[in-house]
Amino acid sequence: MKAFLPALALLALASSANAQPSVTEIGKPLPAWQKGEFDIHHINTGRGEAQLMILPDGTSLLVDMSGKTKEQPPFSLPTRPDASRPPGEWVARYVRRVLPQGADKIDYALISHFHGDHMGGIVKDSPPASNGAYRLSGVTEVAEHLPIAKLIDRGWPDYSYPEPIHNPTMDNYRAFLAWQIQHQGLQVEQFKPGRNDQLVLKHEPAAYPRFQIRNLYANGVLWTGAGDETRSLFPPVSAWPANQQLDENKFSIAFRVSYGAFDYYTGGDISSIDEETSSAPPPWGNVEPLVGQAAGPVEAMKANHHGSWDANSIPFLAALRPRVIVIGARADGHPAVNTWKRMTSKKVWPGDRDIFVTNVSPATAKTTYDIEKTAKSTQGHVVIRVAEGGSSFRVFVLDDTDEDMRVKAVFGPYVSQPSGR
Ligand SMILES: [Zn+2]
Repeated sequence: MKAFLPALALLALASSANAQPSVTEIGKPLPAWQKGEFDIHHINTGRGEAQLMILPDGTSLLVDMSGKTKEQPPFSLPTRPDASRPPGEWVARYVRRVLPQGADKIDYALISHFHGDHMGGIVKDSPPASNGAYRLSGVTEVAEHLPIAKLIDRGWPDYSYPEPIHNPTMDNYRAFLAWQIQHQGLQVEQFKPGRNDQLVLKHEPAAYPRFQIRNLYANGVLWTGAGDETRSLFPPVSAWPANQQLDENKFSIAFRVSYGAFDYYTGGDISSIDEETSSAPPPWGNVEPLVGQAAGPVEAMKANHHGSWDANSIPFLAALRPRVIVIGARADGHPAVNTWKRMTSKKVWPGDRDIFVTNVSPATAKTTYDIEKTAKSTQGHVVIRVAEGGSSFRVFVLDDTDEDMRVKAVFGPYVSQPSGR
């Protein structure tokens, strides 16, 4: 008798958590967000990453704003829905469509790290803003169409870690901040690892006491798991060995969003050790697995670094054990075949997992074997909708060829697993 119980329990779980397309919603626009729900939109422009979160009280949080305007394949895939507008404008228009009724601005915009496929790269022919003070791409393009109340990044106010950052994109960003602060009252803050009171519900925090955003990591500073404490993974820059210079990806902001039993991880382009150039982890540790340990098990995650070959390592995935993974792909090799094997292997962590990719290029389809059969979707916006209270969630795949928000497929409901944190 005892032997039957786990089987029965599994059966019960399977019937509630199994991914079943819902016929009633397919082909129709995504039902509007309702108060109490927590939505995570992985917006596909083909040109970089942009995630829009609508928190349970209607607070909006835009994480990254997508890509360069003129970069051509293979560095980026074709712009979605089409090339008639730059990616940042498509993002702004998407945000406007799904902001709660009456909202006329983005409450928080957060730049995970200072790369063009996340903040918008300034290239030779990036157009000027209407005010003439800076040029438009990514974050500055979004702000041209929709006001931002507060901007959070890893470098405010001096943008000097690990060394002063100067390039056309960052110099333009400085000019943008200066103008927006003076003329639009923009607030800017540096992301503070360890804290759970920087990204908060702006409208009705008391109504959703089990909603929380925990800042995990940025700039080599990691949450310890105790209170708001952090520790530095990196020694002072002056002490870095010449052969251990870190790239921008490893400074990316990572945070965890919790809503009742539901947990979600996002961490920009955090990557693991460089297998080709490092015979051993760097002296201060391997960033990605440590961030994974700080995050702990989650229901869903955005893959690090677009699913590239150097990210989503075995120890990182084993720490998160996600039920759902969303890969924000923007180039060939997203995801890479070795990364795909790690993500799909039940030796890395047991249990089912559903993986959604915003784009799969023809080259990736050929080289990342079986991806078109194994992935739950290979093209489209991916929306995670968490039910009020966080006990379950569903995943919607939306047609990205136009702005109608038509549902292509629905998965779930998945049952959130209390992690005991
Ligand atoms: Zn990137």
